[in-house]
Amino acid sequence: MAVNLLDFDLDGLAAFCDALGEKRFRAVQLFRWVHQKGESDFERMSDLAKSLRAKLSGVAEVRALPLLSEHVSADGTIKWLFDVGAGNAVEAVFIPEAERGTLCVSSQAGCAVGCRFCSTGHQGFSRNLTTGEIVAQLWFAEHRLRRRLALAGGERAIDNVVMMGMGEPLQNYAALLPALRTMLDDHGYGLSRRRVTVSTSGVVPMIDRLREDCPVALAVSLHAPDDALRDALVPLNRKYPLAELLDACVRYLERSPRDFITFEYCMLDGVNDAPAQAQELVRLVRARVPCKFNLIPFNPFPASGLLRSPRERVLAFARVLQDAGIVTTIRKTRGDDIDAACGQLAGEVQDRTRARERLVGRRASIPIVTRPEAPR
Ligand code: SAH
Ligand code: SF4
Repeated sequence: MAVNLLDFDLDGLAAFCDALGEKRFRAVQLFRWVHQKGESDFERMSDLAKSLRAKLSGVAEVRALPLLSEHVSADGTIKWLFDVGAGNAVEAVFIPEAERGTLCVSSQAGCAVGCRFCSTGHQGFSRNLTTGEIVAQLWFAEHRLRRRLALAGGERAIDNVVMMGMGEPLQNYAALLPALRTMLDDHGYGLSRRRVTVSTSGVVPMIDRLREDCPVALAVSLHAPDDALRDALVPLNRKYPLAELLDACVRYLERSPRDFITFEYCMLDGVNDAPAQAQELVRLVRARVPCKFNLIPFNPFPASGLLRSPRERVLAFARVLQDAGIVTTIRKTRGDDIDAACGQLAGEVQDRTRARERLVGRRASIPIVTRPEAPR
């Protein structure tokens, strides 16, 4: 099969060109054609030496992901479903905002972490995406949007990428790294390190690797103020408990392009949304990790058996954090009419891990109780 050029960051492409007897500047030209111009036909890469074009044809290609569907939400959010073969499909979501455009990218078909409240987790895990499959989501979205919005040459449609689609990016590190480098490369998408965010459920050793290899903005999905509850909601916590996770966050900040970690916290009615739990969170992180909180109202899906915290409860929770001096935002739900909101991305996954069965088995151990004192 032909080599997929989307699998390479610039150094990788230079090595590939070197093997074809071509100099690095040719690789730079090629990389720019692919990522900056969105060109996939070598014949149309007009300033590329004819000899190189001839060498490429037949051995290399720019392999886009077959598009299965496109849904546009009433708020302008767009969800694309891509075929990744063998009955698996992954989703990418574009979220337009006044000042910028954000693309939410998937890193795996399914996810092996199996968080209790996440529809991807409920689907189980099929496989890691390749670098080319991760990059192809951005390649497709950027160039389709540029054409659709009739942007002038060089003007970007997407200036923010969040690795918050399907999958745990730090459990697919080998493929993630060249993808991040391509996003950041000035000859690629030229995104600022502060505007590329890796979101993780807390794979501690890989947080350390990312700090060394390619520090970008980091979001950590916290969801609970203590290990007992976090064990139940985010099973990875049993391997990397809170104390270790927070230490890794502190180490990350030594190299991070931002001087804070974003903690994501999915608000689950009667599970993790009590004011006392907010106070516990404050005790946990304050004076330890410079951070901001992003509270995400839970986006329900049928199999979860969980409910979204009522608005007043989310506000009260935010107030406790804010009163302690922690910057806290409440995420606006976008695209929920097309199931594109956080945690609703399910794609199609051929589960190879029996995650679904394990989740059903665990359900009983999660305290879904409505406290009698909780006013509704
Ligand atoms: N695996 C990574 C990134 C993908 S999930 C992670 O867990 O961080 C992106 C974010 O969506 C995470 O913060 C996750 O906790 C949150 N999320 C998952 N399911 C959700 C749901 N049903 N409602 C709201 N947020 C959800
Ligand atoms: Fe995986 Fe993230 Fe969903 Fe947890 S929240 S199951 S880590 S995608």
